[in-house]
Amino acid sequence: MRPDPDCSLCPLCSGRTNIVLPDGNPAPGIILVGEAPGENEDLEGRPFVGRSGKILGAMMEEAGFDRSDVLITNTVKCRPPGNRDPTGEEMAACRPFLESELMDARVVVGLGKSACRDLMGYDGPMADVVNIPTTICVGDRDVPFIPTYHPAATIYNKNSRAELKRTMQILKGMME
Ligand code: SF4
Repeated sequence: MRPDPDCSLCPLCSGRTNIVLPDGNPAPGIILVGEAPGENEDLEGRPFVGRSGKILGAMMEEAGFDRSDVLITNTVKCRPPGNRDPTGEEMAACRPFLESELMDARVVVGLGKSACRDLMGYDGPMADVVNIPTTICVGDRDVPFIPTYHPAATIYNKNSRAELKRTMQILKGMME
């Protein structure tokens, strides 16, 4: 299920240029979920095309795979004003679209706090849960879930960078 091109189920519709739909390959069942589209994503209508996308792509490449091996999406499909975090109400409004993207997932990676809040209901420090696999409920299934840092959080933080690299290694291991 995809949002209508003129979806107005939440207030984020008012500031968007494009609805940003998932990108990549759903077949392997590996789904990376970020927070929300940023400026570049909003303009291009594609997730993770800005600096965060470059960081993520480089880490995936270093681990031996690329974004065509995974499906990349966000908790909400429209850019929040000023790149603020999406609210619980906005994530709930957009959740049916995310839920349908996750329907055939083998493993889901939550990139950053908002994704972990939306998908695992966790609102504490990322350091306490990063790379500790758990499960989330998708439809009537439990699906493996890896909480980790958003690529943007790794720009000035060596530890976050190392943890996100480790996430990519874990994913690579799961694909083999
Ligand atoms: S964020 Fe989702 S629910 Fe809100 S307007 Fe955009 S597509 Fe619709």
